[in-house]
Amino acid sequence: MAIAPGQGDEPARYHLRAGDHRIDLNARLGQPLRLSYTGAIACTHCGRPTNKSFGQGHCFPCFKRLAQCDTCIVKPETCHYHAGTCREPAWGEQHCFQPHVVYLANSSGLKVGITRKTQLPTRWLDQGAIQALPILEVDTRLQSGKVEMLFKEAVADRTNWRAMLKGEVEPLDLIAERDRLMARLESGLAGLREYVGIDSLREIDASPTHLHYPVLESPRKIVSHNFDKSREVSGLLMGLKGQYVILDTGVINLRKFTGYEIEVA
Ligand SMILES: [Zn+2]
Repeated sequence: MAIAPGQGDEPARYHLRAGDHRIDLNARLGQPLRLSYTGAIACTHCGRPTNKSFGQGHCFPCFKRLAQCDTCIVKPETCHYHAGTCREPAWGEQHCFQPHVVYLANSSGLKVGITRKTQLPTRWLDQGAIQALPILEVDTRLQSGKVEMLFKEAVADRTNWRAMLKGEVEPLDLIAERDRLMARLESGLAGLREYVGIDSLREIDASPTHLHYPVLESPRKIVSHNFDKSREVSGLLMGLKGQYVILDTGVINLRKFTGYEIEVA
């Protein structure tokens, strides 16, 4: 599923990619949607069939071999490139030794996160954030991980996806939250600046971004669909938020089933 930001206050645009076809999901809001898993999974990297999906859409050999499937991607503070053990140093140079942004977002309340600068605002849309504010920029993924670790002392780094989908999320004053956190973490940030170099940890003076989703009605109670348990998922399409398709019969996180061959009707 591909998500693109909407224009201005318009909701994000959701598409399903099916070969060369793109199915416009926004246009199908309020209509019946049926997703049927054929039982086939193809590795998103090498295309080989696999019985099970590892690390969101990979076959086991790719999962063990690719740098993008290494644990340091989820825990950037554990980047081990400098030890000479990066699984794919060229990939690491291209993806991890790039400017990264530390941001505050409101997906189910205040959270901190990091991402490559080029991944904004996609990253926020993936998480179903309704507001986001970049606060710091650093030179590498490792540095962003160190900053995130510091912020985690004071703020969550996870989204409560049930609350996110229910839409029970109060707007926050992210500028005030940023100023409060920066003051509280001042000495920790000074310590990090010594570690990464003064020029490598830069404050960003941005305005908050507001993100909107195409949701006719938020679910009151969350029922999860799962292609591993039931191959057919159908219902009226009530909304799209984060990586979730919201049907009147339940929700499904399509990111979880990356690589699964799905028929759409
Ligand atoms: Zn593979």
